[in-house]
Amino acid sequence: MPRQLTFAAVAAVSVLALAACKPPAPPPSQAALLDPIGRDFIALALEVDNYDPGFVDAYYGPPEAQATAKTKPRTAEQLKAEAQRLMAAAEKVDPATLTPIEAKRRAYLIGQSKAAFTRLEMKGGKNMPFQDEAEALFGVRPDLKPLESYDAVLAKIEALAPGPGDLPSRVDAFNKRYIVPADKLDAVMKAAIAECRKRTMAHIALPTNEKFDLEFVKNKPWSGYNWYKGNGHSLIQVNTDLPVRIGRAVDLGCHEGYPGHHVLNLLNEENLTKKRGWVEFAVNPLYGPQSLISEGSANYGIELAFPGDDQLKFEKEVLYPLAGLDPKTADAYDQMRKASAGLVGAQNTIADAYLAGRIDKDTAIAQLMKYGPSAKPTATQRLSFIDTYRSYIINYGIGKDMVQAHIEKAGDQDARWKAMETLLSEPSVSSDLK
Ligand SMILES: [Zn+2]
Repeated sequence: MPRQLTFAAVAAVSVLALAACKPPAPPPSQAALLDPIGRDFIALALEVDNYDPGFVDAYYGPPEAQATAKTKPRTAEQLKAEAQRLMAAAEKVDPATLTPIEAKRRAYLIGQSKAAFTRLEMKGGKNMPFQDEAEALFGVRPDLKPLESYDAVLAKIEALAPGPGDLPSRVDAFNKRYIVPADKLDAVMKAAIAECRKRTMAHIALPTNEKFDLEFVKNKPWSGYNWYKGNGHSLIQVNTDLPVRIGRAVDLGCHEGYPGHHVLNLLNEENLTKKRGWVEFAVNPLYGPQSLISEGSANYGIELAFPGDDQLKFEKEVLYPLAGLDPKTADAYDQMRKASAGLVGAQNTIADAYLAGRIDKDTAIAQLMKYGPSAKPTATQRLSFIDTYRSYIINYGIGKDMVQAHIEKAGDQDARWKAMETLLSEPSVSSDLK
């Protein structure tokens, strides 16, 4: 190769380069190919629910589709083949021809169809290792740390709840001081949700028809749930099997409501189902890589809405007096809450060992008590959740960490809210968290 080109050679190369630079006509957009896949995905999800009750977390599309799913059901084998067909059809759509949001829709349809296929396989008896199951359903392989790696966090908690007896009993006694009396719970929860809503609406415009109903329920494996009904309406349920501690009010208000599940669902409805006509978003399957966004954003939403010491400040000024609790004790609760947050990952490790049969139920409850730290009823409720939802639990801790890293890259508080609004308004899945 000559080190230098002569002037003539440079000119010749430039002419060639100019000719080569003329952009070729862009390939035609294949976005429309996603529409029938979206329509068929609704039918698939509604029918998977026949074999996997609870698979459909929310549905607000035409009621006829739901009726058809019940009256003309396909077999599980046919549904698995359909899920694979939808995955293949979406994969065939060339992402280079799509806008960024269309590419996200394509990734959503592939990931959610794969999760539907995986749940059908699981219901058919396939038992996968915890990490494989989590990856197939939610698109993320959880890192499982040995339980001993959480002992340093336990040591911090020891210092916050000193005295005789084992740590779970001491933490339980500590927590009992912060229980919201049953006759004050409605007022405390409503005040907390109203504050979460106010803080969210300062940054995200919500449709005027949005609203929620609040209900207290019993005998559930979860502590709170948002049931999205469509048209901007949610039913938020709080489980009162176990007493509700004061700190849970803001957590639940943000997580289930604002800017958590309620806001994600209504922004999806407004921006995807209504504005773009992407009908598949009228169904919200419980299992899929969107779940990591849903739980992760709901958990990170607490810190976003109450940055720094805002949660403590609001609780002290408003919620403690409403609950008849002494605001002077709020700092100690806050320290305990912050220390305990470091234990979230331990549940994944325990769930892995328990679901694989390496530890029995009693051992799992004992480990959940130790690494809660919590009393037996709370640990038993956690195990009931793990029995019901299995690897879904990764979405809370890992989802929160991933959403937080993604949003906080945006910059200051205003930029973070903007990034959150985009995440909640687009068909986001775990692989979008770069
Ligand atoms: Zn949730």
